[in-house]
Amino acid sequence: MGGPVLAVLGGGQLGRMLGLAALPLGARCRFLDPAPDAGAGAVGELVVGALDDPGALDRVAEGADAVTFEWEGVPADAARRLAARLPVFPGPEALAASQDRQAEKAAFARLGIPTAHFAAVDSRVGLARAVDEVGLPALLKTRRGGYDGKGQHRIDGADDGALDGAWGALGGVPLILERVVPFTRELSVLAVRDRARATRCWPLVENEHRDGILRTSRAPAPGVTPELQGRAERYATRLLDEWGYVGVLAVELFDVDGELLANEVAPRVHNSGHWTIEGATTSQFENHVRAVLGWPLGATDAVGVSAMVNCIGALPEPGAVLAVPGAHLHVYGKAPRPDRKVGHITVTASSPDVLQDRLAQLSAHI
Ligand code: AMP
Repeated sequence: MGGPVLAVLGGGQLGRMLGLAALPLGARCRFLDPAPDAGAGAVGELVVGALDDPGALDRVAEGADAVTFEWEGVPADAARRLAARLPVFPGPEALAASQDRQAEKAAFARLGIPTAHFAAVDSRVGLARAVDEVGLPALLKTRRGGYDGKGQHRIDGADDGALDGAWGALGGVPLILERVVPFTRELSVLAVRDRARATRCWPLVENEHRDGILRTSRAPAPGVTPELQGRAERYATRLLDEWGYVGVLAVELFDVDGELLANEVAPRVHNSGHWTIEGATTSQFENHVRAVLGWPLGATDAVGVSAMVNCIGALPEPGAVLAVPGAHLHVYGKAPRPDRKVGHITVTASSPDVLQDRLAQLSAHI
């Protein structure tokens, strides 16, 4: 069939959208996922296997031009193993750092990127010490494996009962305590760097989470000054430099009255960048493919204004969504389950007023 082959570790919706972006460029994605019905299988070859199975890793990488991943839970050793013989972008170091909240926060601190007060917690005694150091209210989080607000416990009081409760809920694995940030809003910045080190950033996005799960993103985020955009881009660029990064990187930020505090990074395409498929000159998926395959990046400007709404737990009736002007439906091909992201809708418009009107029409239908 010709054209480059990109091996992708993970075959969920992010892989599916990478695969869709690769096709018009003449590139093909080959995915590795343990699930035989992984959603990315609809848009590329699917190798069914565990992400830490050497044989499966060999099969997905065979004859590939580069390797990337769409899930940051991919074992860093799997990425290292493949990096010995193929370009793996982003590199295993960025993957490993993003998998450990303590390493991630330490990188922020080292690079002068403001973040919430934090301390590592490895014992019940250590928790009391960390509460003294960090202050309250605070969130106790697992260092590894947490996502969508899972593995988090809020602590409001320093009494033994509160600390026993938090330790009882999460103790036994490495933890981190973080001061609760009284943010005015949540933002994210997505950056991409190609193999020739050219770097571009999309406009800042405003994100609304509920119960730790991203519900909606609005782009460009309203009321962002060039100075704020520039600061977010500088923070993202320091991380790209630190990790010798190639590909898309997302940095989640808290906006505290104009001060930006980094919450976490994702070394991959990100849910808060889905709006770029219809709302930007080049989508995060296309630019990630371009970057990792050694092609130049496309422009990252917003085209008008956009809002992305996640479909969580259930899909809307397609006809009702598509009746709304400017609405674009993306179905991930996943079985619906409570709290599971099964699709998203991006609504685009030429102005914030028109966007508001279209979102009102959408919420009347779904
Ligand atoms: P995380 O898994 O760290 O992305 O957290 C999920 C969501 O929990 C974030 O998007 C915030 O809404 C909230 N959150 C996490 N950490 C903090 C914090 N230190 N202060 C306030 N809210 C937080």
